[in-house]
Amino acid sequence: MVARKCPECEGLVASTINVCPHCGYRFSVEAYCVSNQPTINYSENPNVSLAYVVCAFILFWPFAVVSLLYYIKSNSRWRVGDEAGAKYYGSISILWARIALWLNIACLLVLIFVLALL
Ligand SMILES: [Zn+2]
Repeated sequence: MVARKCPECEGLVASTINVCPHCGYRFSVEAYCVSNQPTINYSENPNVSLAYVVCAFILFWPFAVVSLLYYIKSNSRWRVGDEAGAKYYGSISILWARIALWLNIACLLVLIFVLALL
């Protein structure tokens, strides 16, 4: 059960009740809605990089899709103020982009090796 503080007597009141049982203070519905909305963080999420995702799309798109999903996940966590979550999903996003990069380099090296043998 979610409880809120009465601005009059500072007693805890269940969120389902609109009148304080301690002092009779009436909660306005609007005030309750505003105070309950999560604060949205509009600043840039430092844990992710769209450049990585774009590079991954150019290099190896299947991994880029995974990278992009975690990028979105990290950003949505960041916006609601969950820094740990944003960091966690951001690191996974960058990891998949890096795997795409290294896979691409490996393929190029194999290609060069094969061409050199011909
Ligand atoms: Zn009260």
